[in-house]
Amino acid sequence: MSIIKTSENLSEEQKKENESLDLFLSTQTVIKEALNKLGYSNELFELLKEPLRMLTVRIPVKMDDGTVKVFTGYRSQHNDAVGPTKGGVRFHPEVNEKEVKALSIWMSLKCGITDLPYGGGKGGIICDPRVMSFGELERLSRGYVRAISQIVGPTKDIPAPDMYTNSQIMAWMMDEYSRLREFDSPGFITGKPIVLGGSQGRETATARGVTICIEEAGKKKGIDLLGARIIIQGFGNAGSFLAKFMHNAGAMVIGISDANGALYDPKGLDIDYLIDRRDSFGTVTNLFTNVITNQELLEKECDILVPAAISNQITAQNAHRIKASIVVEAANGPTTLEATKILDERGVLLVPDILASAGGVTVSYFEWVQNNQGYYWSEEEVVEKLRKVMIDSFENIYQTAQVYKVDMRLAAYMVGIKKSAEASSFRGWV
Ligand code: NAD
Repeated sequence: MSIIKTSENLSEEQKKENESLDLFLSTQTVIKEALNKLGYSNELFELLKEPLRMLTVRIPVKMDDGTVKVFTGYRSQHNDAVGPTKGGVRFHPEVNEKEVKALSIWMSLKCGITDLPYGGGKGGIICDPRVMSFGELERLSRGYVRAISQIVGPTKDIPAPDMYTNSQIMAWMMDEYSRLREFDSPGFITGKPIVLGGSQGRETATARGVTICIEEAGKKKGIDLLGARIIIQGFGNAGSFLAKFMHNAGAMVIGISDANGALYDPKGLDIDYLIDRRDSFGTVTNLFTNVITNQELLEKECDILVPAAISNQITAQNAHRIKASIVVEAANGPTTLEATKILDERGVLLVPDILASAGGVTVSYFEWVQNNQGYYWSEEEVVEKLRKVMIDSFENIYQTAQVYKVDMRLAAYMVGIKKSAEASSFRGWV
């Protein structure tokens, strides 16, 4: 994994590399470019380059051993001109303010691409849920909701799961919010268990959206899924369900990975077995001895590569050695801007994160609609509606890329930022 070096005596080259690994800075760079291409004013860039609101909270939690630990959490709201903000809450040791801000901007872009009536939001807590008990996680989740309760709500800002958070954590958060407000508020949060107003198909929505993007990209590149060789980095919610969908579609999943390493077999992996043995944090490689590194896996021969774990995985250093002809970004920010350029020049079709991983927020929106109307849809209805949204969004971005002669990432930013820009203008903010 590439990390940002903090030394002050950096060479020009190292400074450039640091900049490209800075997700917030690269997001601003592409937003500026997208607004310029669309002919919007610099004032709009000044408005949209930062979140409107960023709340930092400190959450005291009584730990099981009787001590009190104070956790730091964030909630960022990028722009609410279109409607309430929406976005997940991440529990991870590497959560930081800049990343949360960038992720909230990406949520605005995802909602713009899929034409949802939301702006972008995002939250995170610096913690490691892998070493916390169930009770500690519940107290932390409830404490976070109490800390941010003034700025969130079903018509203000609607959280959801993200890395290392799940439907149980959403259930605790929804319960805490309902207690504070003294009425049941299922529409406060999405990604809930079905029995508490969750939507059919939400758990697999991100992977399904990625699957649809792979199918559409395959059509453009003349790659049939049947027999296609796929490598997936990350075996959590997004990665493992995607592996299952690919396997069911007749593709050959020849590589997967988790935080500890990667498994690779050119003859295809036993996906059902791996899903059966993985733990709730998406870890499975620790059960094997023939493990390679994540970086080695990314460079293996394959047709389709799907980074579905963390950011900054494909950089200027390894982009030349990527063998896939299609890269579909299930994770947020796995490819730097420099690497995007290299892949584009090499003719690799890159489906950017803000399009590829938009299935999650789309079905989250369906969940919120169902909560608001109190009437629930079948899984078939949800999947059909999701399919339409993803295919339309893919085609819109693909055509934009062709018309403006830009790469798919810039095309996605152009489509994604337009709605926030127009809504902000109509409201008279700029
Ligand atoms: P998850 O917590 O369920 O799984 C994460 C996976 O990544 C695990 O297999 C973990 O072992 C692996 N991982 C963690 N650190 C790693 C490292 N340093 N190197 C390699 N692998 C590592 O998370 P998820 O929900 O599957 O999310 C994965 C990515 O997809 C994230 O970037 C997330 O923001 C993005 N995403 C997820 C959703 C969703 O609905 N789940 C929606 C949009 C985007």
